[in-house]
Amino acid sequence: MNQGCEHIDNMRDKIDPPNIQECEKCKSEGINWIALRMCLTCGHIGCCDSSTGLHARRHFEESKHPVMIEVPNKSWRWCYEHKQYG
Ligand SMILES: [Zn+2]
Ligand SMILES: [Zn+2]
Ligand SMILES: [Zn+2]
Repeated sequence: MNQGCEHIDNMRDKIDPPNIQECEKCKSEGINWIALRMCLTCGHIGCCDSSTGLHARRHFEESKHPVMIEVPNKSWRWCYEHKQYG
C-alpha cells in the first residue's frame, strides 16, 4: 500500500492529539474550518484542504513535516510529500 512513502510508517501514532482541538490560525483570523488535521511530527493542529484557511497544508509548506493525521478519530493519515494515504 505505502510503496514509496516511508514517512507514514515511520510516524505511526507517535503523538496523541491534544485535548484542545481547534485551528488557532482560523480562530485568530475569524474564519471557520471544516475539519482538522494534526501534524505527526510536532503535533501542530491545522485545518484541512476543504477549509478556507488550508492551515494544515501551510504548516507542511513551512515546516516540511510530511505526514498529518485526521483528528479526532485518527482514522487515516496523509503524506503531503508523496500525496498518498496510509
Ligand atoms: Zn511520504
Ligand atoms: Zn485554519
Ligand atoms: Zn509539524
